[in-house]
Amino acid sequence: MTDTLTTPAAPPYEADSPLAELFDIAQAVGVPTDDEQRDNAETAAAHHVWNQYADTFGRALNDDNWVGRPALKPNGLEPSAIIPLGGGLWLHHTLDISERDGARDVLTLLAPCNCGRGYLGYELDGEDDLLQILTDLRRTSGRVTHDGDSGGAYCDSLHPPQPTTR
Ligand SMILES: [Zn+2]
Repeated sequence: MTDTLTTPAAPPYEADSPLAELFDIAQAVGVPTDDEQRDNAETAAAHHVWNQYADTFGRALNDDNWVGRPALKPNGLEPSAIIPLGGGLWLHHTLDISERDGARDVLTLLAPCNCGRGYLGYELDGEDDLLQILTDLRRTSGRVTHDGDSGGAYCDSLHPPQPTTR
């Protein structure tokens, strides 16, 4: 995917201009490759889990099992990382980047619905929150009960069955 750029004979800026130096800096520093984004996403996920969930995920997870994904620019998604928990459950980590608050860690536990069609995501708010969710999920062996009509979990709200239109 590297395009060979033909340098114009006389660029429309001075060789000693700030712009020329900025171009040199950008070329030297470069932008993160997909592999670098994956590595960074895995490191960020492991770091967050170790800091905020030391007594749960910190004990149960092997840092090496995080799988990073580069950013999906057209969808506005930052790099992320997932790790399998067993039984079809996953943990997902990404950063929510806003102009006001900077980067915020977003850790989501994904549990399969017992209807077999989707997942329900629990955005985790600390270890106490996680322990409550785990206590509930343990009763159903890690499956969310598909029960939208009576106010329970309803996985279809996460994955609408209708075809999406662009
Ligand atoms: Zn369901």
